[in-house]
Amino acid sequence: MFKSIRDSLSKTRQSVFGQIAHVLGAGDITEETWEDLEALLIQADVGVPTTLALVETLRDRVTKEGLYTADQLTSALREELRAMLVEPESFPLEEKRLLTVVMVVGVNGSGKTTSIGKMALYYKNKGYKPVMVAGDTFRAAAIDQLTIWSERADVPIISGQPGGDPAAIAYDGIRATRARGNNLLFIDTAGRLHTKYNLMKELEKVYGVCKKSVHQAPHEVLLVLDAPTGQNALLQAQKFKESVNITGVVLTKLDSTAKGGMVFAIYRELGVPVRFIGTGERLQDLAPFDADQFVDGLFG
Ligand code: GDP
Repeated sequence: MFKSIRDSLSKTRQSVFGQIAHVLGAGDITEETWEDLEALLIQADVGVPTTLALVETLRDRVTKEGLYTADQLTSALREELRAMLVEPESFPLEEKRLLTVVMVVGVNGSGKTTSIGKMALYYKNKGYKPVMVAGDTFRAAAIDQLTIWSERADVPIISGQPGGDPAAIAYDGIRATRARGNNLLFIDTAGRLHTKYNLMKELEKVYGVCKKSVHQAPHEVLLVLDAPTGQNALLQAQKFKESVNITGVVLTKLDSTAKGGMVFAIYRELGVPVRFIGTGERLQDLAPFDADQFVDGLFG
């Protein structure tokens, strides 16, 4: 059974958005209403700048449109939240081409290897022929873990030796994928010490190899962010953005946190879309991001 975005939002919905409905329905709108709303949005990790902008827009609408019932306020809030999640026109990963290269980046423990396994299966089921590259050569455990996911998803893996050069493995991976006639490549990358210059240099090298080897590659650079990390994940994201051109986010472990509000901060503050949601620990616990479902799932 697949877990839906709605299921994985149950913590966020119960602990925060349920209370928002309560605050908005409590009677006359006073200064306290706005303060409570602000506090709850921040608690859901919507982030301070995004929360302030959102509340200001709502206050304006209340004045201009004369909103006063709980229903009117709630639907205005839903509309404003939905409006923040502007989807890019196309999803490059799904464009038709001979070989699509996806680099997957993120700090260790964020759920990179798990997410690669899930995405490989997801696209295999859609008729793609995926391959994964174990590019985190700094950790033998990462190679072993990705190998386990490749077995679970029944998707081929290309890996080098621990301690090998990640850029060289990416290069070999691209060649081997082409030789096999496969058309989708997920490259795992190292995620240790994201504040250290060296890791970012390694990522840039892998990025460079993709760029040189395949037309317009990497077509996607997916940043895996761990939802329970909340606003700290956004700081990590800024670091990664300095080295590689992040095109989308895979938000993992949404099922285990009430911080689902960070999706809005990802769109507004990072300026990148969320592509997938991790909804659990199993291979099939992955949901393509859907803005309507997401906003609906926040409310009871
Ligand atoms: P990596 O170090 O970035 O490759 O992280 P892993 O893929 O090994 O994941 C770290 C931990 O997070 C593992 O225990 C995973 O089972 C868990 N995990 C990954 N994605 C999800 C998710 O969407 N939901 C939950 N609940 N756990 C997840």
